[in-house]
Amino acid sequence: PPRLDVVRLRQDFPILYQTVHGKPLVYLDNAATSQKPRSVIETETRYYGEINANVHRGVHTLSQRATDAFEAARDTVRRFINAARHEEIVFVRGTTEAINLVAASFGQRLQPGDEILITEMEHHSNIVPWQLLCERSGAVLRVAPIDDTGELKLDEFARLLSPATRLVAVTQLSNALGTVNPVRQLIELAHAAGAVVLVDGAQAVAHRPVDVQALDCDFYAFSGHKLYGPTGIGVLYGKGALLESMPPYQGGGDMIRQVSFAGTTYNDLPYKFEAGTPNIAGAIGLGAAIDYLNTLGLPVVAAHEQALLAAATAQAMQIPGLRLIGTARDKASILAFTLEGVHPHDVGTILDLEGVAVRAGHHCAMPVMAHFGLPATVRASFALYNTAEEVDVLMHAIRKAREVFG
Ligand code: PMP
Repeated sequence: PPRLDVVRLRQDFPILYQTVHGKPLVYLDNAATSQKPRSVIETETRYYGEINANVHRGVHTLSQRATDAFEAARDTVRRFINAARHEEIVFVRGTTEAINLVAASFGQRLQPGDEILITEMEHHSNIVPWQLLCERSGAVLRVAPIDDTGELKLDEFARLLSPATRLVAVTQLSNALGTVNPVRQLIELAHAAGAVVLVDGAQAVAHRPVDVQALDCDFYAFSGHKLYGPTGIGVLYGKGALLESMPPYQGGGDMIRQVSFAGTTYNDLPYKFEAGTPNIAGAIGLGAAIDYLNTLGLPVVAAHEQALLAAATAQAMQIPGLRLIGTARDKASILAFTLEGVHPHDVGTILDLEGVAVRAGHHCAMPVMAHFGLPATVRASFALYNTAEEVDVLMHAIRKAREVFG
């Protein structure tokens, strides 16, 4: 199988060429946000330097160019997740806004006694919007538990589905554990119960090829910035008929057809859900990020990251006092752990002194921390530009933290 030429492709990421505390930067906080290739940075610069104008309004040339580039980016996203139709791709701020959009709009059809099913491993952004919706609607939030390896308990998930379940919201890849959920199977179970399914793809899109038609999910949400694209841009995919049937999310320019004080009619999809001037540069930058990833090939990237994770896991298991948090059979890109006798934040600080950027904290998944009885973990997360040498540096730094505090 083809292999990634990591030495060459690292040159596409200017930020990687710096030292931190006198040590070469080893960036392993990719689950929080990924670095951007030069093509993405240059695409945004070129947009502002050459074609900046507002979209969908102007008859003038720049406005048409900006509109064409913006809509071309939408089509790049459509192809990337294999959505059937252009209008099923709604640009939003990120995963968080995508989920809040569904909660605000689709959520209006929920009634007292209806149920929303999530899992114990969700990110706060796939918990809190549903709690707020339950407060508004009288619906009830159900939570499918995980086991001590960080896998979803499938039998419990199936047992919690009922005719009352209106919506299932589940992550494809846990940012705190690395667990990859069998979303295809979960969606089938949920559909059999008559529920609509939202997949949180914030972590998954950068690490696994996604085909929303093959998954048959009703909604799919992700952020550009974890996919080597800009911050402030993300995507909500929704099945056309479903989006069509939903009321608008925010009101404003671009989402209307006709406005009068007697009443307002709404624009076609996807514009009905895109009130106001969008993040035009961000959308075009996201398109460039997807183009970049496509030239490498996501399966090749995934194989590379999987090899790094396997090497890191094997080495971590040799470190006395290190406890892996998240040992699911199907896992991707994330190595979370604790170190006996050392607070995760202290581990993070020592690692930073060695140039190694990791995250220490609850990872916006406090229920996961609660499950394992921990205040926090240390999380290293891998991306396409990481190397086996960087895994070695990470392990060396962890051993150093043990020595300092041990
Ligand atoms: N879901 C998951 C699984 C995530 O990892 C994240 C980001 N950490 C989010 C949702 C939220 O994404 P954003 O902050 O980009 O909206």
